[in-house]
Amino acid sequence: MRVQTTFSNSVNSDSDNYQSMNPFQTPLVYLKGVGQSRAEVLKKELELHTFEDLLRHFPFRYIDRTRFYKVREIREELPYVQVLARIVSKEVVGEKQSRRLVVKAKDDTGIIELVWFKGINWIEKTIIPGKVYILFGKPGFFNMMPQMAHPEMELYVPGAQKQGNLSLQPVYNSTEKLKQFSLDTKGIQKLTASLLDQHAKDIRENLPLYIINQFKLLNRADAYRNIHFPGDATLLNEALIRLKFEELFFLQLKLLKNKLLHTQKFKGNVFDKVGHYFNEFYHNKLPFTLTDPQKRVLKEIRQDTQRGIQMNRLLQGDVGSGKTVVALMSMLIAIDNGFQTCIMAPTEILATQHYQTIKSLVGDDFIEVALLTGSTKQKDRKVLHQKLEDGDLKILVGTHALIEDKVQFKNLGFVVIDEQHRFGVEQRSKLWRKNIIPPHILVMTATPIPRTLAMTLYGDLDVSVIDQLPAGRKPIKTVHFFENQRLRMFGFMKQEIALGRQIYVVYPLIQESEKLDLKNLEDGIEAMSREFPLPNYRLSIVHGKMKPADKDFEMQRFIKHETQIMVATTVIEVGVNVPNASVMIIENAERFGLSQLHQLRGRVGRGAEQSYCILMSSHKLSNDGKIRLDTMVKTNNGFEISEIDLQLRGPGNIEGTQQSGVVDLKLANLATDQELLFKVRKCVEAIFEKDPQLAHPENQVLHHAFEVKNAGLSWDKIS
Ligand code: ADP
Ligand code: MG
Repeated sequence: MRVQTTFSNSVNSDSDNYQSMNPFQTPLVYLKGVGQSRAEVLKKELELHTFEDLLRHFPFRYIDRTRFYKVREIREELPYVQVLARIVSKEVVGEKQSRRLVVKAKDDTGIIELVWFKGINWIEKTIIPGKVYILFGKPGFFNMMPQMAHPEMELYVPGAQKQGNLSLQPVYNSTEKLKQFSLDTKGIQKLTASLLDQHAKDIRENLPLYIINQFKLLNRADAYRNIHFPGDATLLNEALIRLKFEELFFLQLKLLKNKLLHTQKFKGNVFDKVGHYFNEFYHNKLPFTLTDPQKRVLKEIRQDTQRGIQMNRLLQGDVGSGKTVVALMSMLIAIDNGFQTCIMAPTEILATQHYQTIKSLVGDDFIEVALLTGSTKQKDRKVLHQKLEDGDLKILVGTHALIEDKVQFKNLGFVVIDEQHRFGVEQRSKLWRKNIIPPHILVMTATPIPRTLAMTLYGDLDVSVIDQLPAGRKPIKTVHFFENQRLRMFGFMKQEIALGRQIYVVYPLIQESEKLDLKNLEDGIEAMSREFPLPNYRLSIVHGKMKPADKDFEMQRFIKHETQIMVATTVIEVGVNVPNASVMIIENAERFGLSQLHQLRGRVGRGAEQSYCILMSSHKLSNDGKIRLDTMVKTNNGFEISEIDLQLRGPGNIEGTQQSGVVDLKLANLATDQELLFKVRKCVEAIFEKDPQLAHPENQVLHHAFEVKNAGLSWDKIS
């Protein structure tokens, strides 16, 4: 008992003073060896302001000085290595530009040549023939002879080497500007060493002791020491694990705490019955049987909405996996319980499509469905508003127009948001305010993201997944053609058109080279027009430079099957639905990202016919480009594709991650540290399960995470 009181007391008083006492918030100008001008340039070039920033300016690689290489072992592929060798000769050769110092050194396996192009005179004087030196540099070959240019040299004194030379040495990011202030990697190394010398003792542990023990983690101070100056490879690894653990831990702590607060703060409407609307729809209107994942997700939503806690659920599934039906059926349950519902889409086209889909699914006199978008006429709007306030209208479909303050519901109970990426957390919370008890929220996205990202981006949401397409759907056949197979492609197009099908041909449009892209598109159109001439063939052309009305006109011609080929830039990516279109041709496919390719391909495969996707590319393919195209050919599964996309691009470049905390992860990588993240997530869940208030003395230390801004992460960027 006594022990406990003292412990929590000390931690409490500690937290009051923590900020003021925390030396790591000290501006770098106060670090020995920094000074005004260096502090300025560190700020400007690397955004290093405080001690902590420097401490968290991690090495991006290490140089292995743990062993000496023999001359015979030297290969061009080796990184920086050290060699122990005796100087046999030195000689300045060449004139003017090609003047250089050439030194030969040997060990018991061979001779290595050392060359200098600069500082020749000075270096020439310091090198003593006959002596043994530690040579350190990047090895190469010149005239079949092992060579090092501008190596570092140090006279070898047996048994008296500085310890630093026998360990992994950190290499830091620097810039040309910094180098002018002697802040190259060595200079930064010195500053970091001096910071650690003076303040390592001030590095506070921020994880509970039992967690450290449970996961056998290095303590925090040791971790920082070893990530900068590893004792050996094992310690470096442990330091990395510890610091990654910490990053992921506090991110999850924050997210799960938000989720908890949320469920405590927001009661949820209880949908305790399944009634007329659901049953009637399910038994008499649903034109197919639900897939297993659809049933599972419905069950999850059912459970969520009975608990009296507000639901916040993310529903992921490929295009065509049947999300909309699941959303609609959930809405019917809400209506059965006396509530209104709405569904919000990012664009007018998509909203209109949802509106039509839902209308045709429920039929005309079953239940009223209304559409509200930016272009809804004022007088229709008035009627709509009235019906919503009276509670007569139960299903509203629309765009952002839905969240305007003017739109008031009598009793909104369930909200569906399509395409999470385009709406922020901000908008989600606006919807909560539409009722005293906030409505349940289901966010749907057709851009599957890997589990690790979902856990981090939407860590405060529950996640449901539809990972199986309805039965009988024919998977889209995808092939990759090179430029010399163009004739084959034309032949295939003609064959499909003869069968009555329609075709998309898509060109990339990337802002940076707009001119080139436009030329690309124009050439493409010309070639297509030549190959598919009137009157047998008709083309629709749609690109970003057209007026919306013209675009719409062309789109409509294609939808009505007045044209067979739609040549377009990526503007068609968003939401066209033409079931008769069964071929997607993507030109310069190597220039598209994986998720974009997958989205584009999703435009076909919507009808009963076998669909195809042809990826056209030049022979010049980058490694990543090749992997992208191979992936598309290999799989139709959006989740698989998103995993590979994450591996290729890294988490920071995936859509939606920029504003989130993901990019603040300096060490942990959501692509490569999946297992660690799952472990951490479980660990944090267990903590909250046992101690939701984090009130146990052993968890006291975690309060810092919420009190102190710089507990390792900047919270303001995450929430
Ligand atoms: P998503 O919203 O995930 O893109 P939709 O809900 O729009 O998918 O469904 C795509 C198409 O598949 C629609 O025409 C829908 O009626 C149909 N569909 C949905 N679920 C099934 C199912 N279980 N069996 C057969 N067809 C289905
Ligand atoms: Mg859909």
